[in-house]
Amino acid sequence: MAKTILVLAEHLKGKLTDVTFEMLGKAYEISQQTDSKVIALLYGNEIENLTQQLNPADEVLYFEHELLTEFIPETYANLTIQQINQQNPWLILISASSIGLDVSSIISAKFNMPLISSCKELHLENDKLIITSQLLGGKMLLESELSGGQAIVSVLPGAFRAESAKSNKTIAINKLPFTVAIDSIHTKFERFIEPETGDVDITQVPVLISVGRGIQNQDNISLAQELADVISGAVSASRPVVDQGWLPATRQVGRSGMTVKPKLYLALGISGAPEHVEGMKDSELIVAINTDPKAPIFNIAHYGANIDALELLPLLKETIEKGKG
Ligand code: FAD
Repeated sequence: MAKTILVLAEHLKGKLTDVTFEMLGKAYEISQQTDSKVIALLYGNEIENLTQQLNPADEVLYFEHELLTEFIPETYANLTIQQINQQNPWLILISASSIGLDVSSIISAKFNMPLISSCKELHLENDKLIITSQLLGGKMLLESELSGGQAIVSVLPGAFRAESAKSNKTIAINKLPFTVAIDSIHTKFERFIEPETGDVDITQVPVLISVGRGIQNQDNISLAQELADVISGAVSASRPVVDQGWLPATRQVGRSGMTVKPKLYLALGISGAPEHVEGMKDSELIVAINTDPKAPIFNIAHYGANIDALELLPLLKETIEKGKG
């Protein structure tokens, strides 16, 4: 009998979240190496339209009920506990989002099952699952080894590539009856409070013009913004730029900022400290501009130029504008 990996899918405002595809991509990879079956669990109300997108799971089990319209930890946990009893998975992937964190802790307590939190890397080595967790805001990395039994791994959003989850295979989709006793749910959903960012979401922009301390002062950021405007990109930054208040925290890339994977990451005057690189190393194309030929950013850049970013920015903007004309 095939072994099972369970993945708890998440959705928000009618869309499956990125971390769902990231977990499914990783589950698929591990399933190929362990001859396992991947089952995605999906809970909600009127969510059937999302089920087809949950490839490359082998099977989707979904539950629809008005009590699942909004996220209630006990309801999600209750259904997941039922499915763990039914499917007997060896591995359960749940995101380290505010939804996943609530669910994974309840399940872990219920089954007295190991919960390996904040996973940023996961691979098999001699039939053992090796999990790297990022703790204390990235100050500490912890390696855990799973050699048998059941475990829950709580996956950090952005840790794996979502692209690998895109496949055209047909999946078995089954709707299951909602069997949670309503009087066992003691939590009531009040309202959904969204963070007031009011800013660009740099994790979703395909072109990032990213500035570091080498941009020298706040006024020069407008040079980067002008370039971003002509190529429909956005300006992001390293931590010192944000610490100085030149850009809001929503623009920070790195360990204590955002993890980004744009099509183009243009790093201007960024040295390439490990804490910064951690947040952008998976960008499709990295171009680094730095006056120091030994700057570590060149070690991970696909292309680099040892020139002054402040001279390059207006020239690049002008050249692109002419090209467009
Ligand atoms: P610097 O290291 O000072 O580099 C500036 C670069 O600009 C130099 O390489 C210089 O040669 C170049 N330069 C100067 N003038 C020019 C010019 N005119 N044209 C071209 N190049 C020029 N950092 C982050 O970015 N994100 C994080 O999330 C983050 N989290 C952290 C978490 C922890 C726990 C810790 C301890 C640190 C964290 N840091 C983070 C800080 C990180 O260690 C570095 O200090 C930071 O990334 C350096 O930023 P920088 O490259 O802009 O500045």
